[in-house]
Amino acid sequence: MSQTVYGIDLGTTYSAISMINEFGTADVIENMEGDNTTPSVVYFEDESNFVVGKEAKNSQKVYPDDTISLVKRLMGEKRELSFQGTTHTPESISALILRQLVEEANEQLEEDVNDVVITVPAYFGLVEKEATRTAGEIAGLNVKGIIAEPVAAAISAGFKPGASETVFVYDLGGGTFDCTVMTLSDEGIEVVAVDGDRYLGGADWDEKLFDYVLTTFVEKAGLDEDPADDDQFYQEILSEVESAKKSLTKKRSAKVRCSFGSITEMIEVTREKFEEITKPLVDQTLEIAERTLEAATAKKPNLNVTKYLLVGGSSRMPMISDALENKFGWELTVTEFDLAVAKGAAMYGQGQADFKMLNPEANAGEDKADEPRFYLGGVDSGQGMQINNILSKAVGVLFVDPETRTPHIGHLLNQGETLPAEASITAATLGEGATEISIHLYEQAGEVPSTDVDANKEITPETGATFTNLPQLPQGSPIELYMHVDSEGLLTFKGFEPQSNQELKLKVKVAAMQEDEIQLAKQVVGGLQRSE
Ligand code: ADP
Ligand code: MG
Repeated sequence: MSQTVYGIDLGTTYSAISMINEFGTADVIENMEGDNTTPSVVYFEDESNFVVGKEAKNSQKVYPDDTISLVKRLMGEKRELSFQGTTHTPESISALILRQLVEEANEQLEEDVNDVVITVPAYFGLVEKEATRTAGEIAGLNVKGIIAEPVAAAISAGFKPGASETVFVYDLGGGTFDCTVMTLSDEGIEVVAVDGDRYLGGADWDEKLFDYVLTTFVEKAGLDEDPADDDQFYQEILSEVESAKKSLTKKRSAKVRCSFGSITEMIEVTREKFEEITKPLVDQTLEIAERTLEAATAKKPNLNVTKYLLVGGSSRMPMISDALENKFGWELTVTEFDLAVAKGAAMYGQGQADFKMLNPEANAGEDKADEPRFYLGGVDSGQGMQINNILSKAVGVLFVDPETRTPHIGHLLNQGETLPAEASITAATLGEGATEISIHLYEQAGEVPSTDVDANKEITPETGATFTNLPQLPQGSPIELYMHVDSEGLLTFKGFEPQSNQELKLKVKVAAMQEDEIQLAKQVVGGLQRSE
């Protein structure tokens, strides 16, 4: 049996960790509070102590300067985040969340968690993915893979690459909404279209309910002042409101206890009322879902969705399935909502590890004494699991216009291209007698690709990749450029200058942090050492 590989859903609002049990099915490992998911919130109590999870989430409004949430939205950005006098980064904060999940799992299992697969949204570009990998590294983990959330969700729902299905994933989480269309075939999993709203999620439902409860309370209690100005009160009600929202998933009505000064009132909310005040939010998701489907169909005209998967904690609300069924007539496949992604990651990670163990290239003919604990599409057919993601952000090279001498980005690989992908072009030198040429690689920064340098971000170190000691190349000398992005979205770049026969084998570091910064962050995060 190969080493256990854990699946981690590092979510915008909630995170979860999962493993394959002895029966070959995925279990989510509860945290010390007995919850399946842990809020992705960190509270820095003082210089040396921090808290991750529910307690941190409850401290948010009262200690806003010492608390950070939604850090996933900052992944891939160069940001300095200062708490209690220490400088952190999105990666190091994420590492604290990962460490919390892993340490609590270690305590429950009395086993060391080392090997992990971490999930990322399908729209994450190279930089964000590499930042996620770095976060795992800082947490002292051995990151075996990075996999897209909708793909993980589909795996958890039992879909296999050989299945010949077209799957639509509707993922409504706490702070984001993601739609994905993908096809599964003998060739693997191909992501066809990705869309969503990075600022739409369960928190918006909480907010609507909060406003309703607050207005009703103020009216009922006849208050002159706004109790929401009181941070303690605000935080309490916000947390009560989220609990009430979850209750309304099961029950037809829920009560929120509001206590301000000497006044205490129980505010009742019916499911009907809740659905009425949040209908615009549901409609927004329907519009995006439709748009995603249209984009997928435009790309593949014969596309015929065979399964509609419901994912994410907020998809538990009955209004979501009702709306999708009513509006589109979809027959929905329900997953384990906020647990599906972590479970799928564990299945993927363990499947890969077991497959590798059973098929060591060098000993291909050896007896397969140890059976894998479970089978994933392709494992038994000797293929391993193929997943074809798409490139969510275009990548290219910084070029200069020969006439205007203005710089622009020439994208060699386009947004939406199926991975693995490669491209090569022959560029020409612009200056006369060049002895040194620097190549700078860029990734599209915004949602829409643009050749403007400002609309892209550099993924090479500031010095770029440099050919040195060139034999005073005449203007127009050819330089061959080659780029390869593997199925997990990691980029390899090669450049070749024929005259000097110089090959530039650039190990492009696409991390938002450099190695020494990772080491520094490791020290800040402290504790765990990376085991090889
Ligand atoms: P993310 O991946 O974006 O962090 P999750 O998929 O874990 O998010 O979903 C978290 C959201 O789901 C939160 O807004 C939470 O309140 C909501 N949620 C969890 N359980 C329920 C439930 N039973 N009913 C309604 N909403 C729920
Ligand atoms: Mg999620």
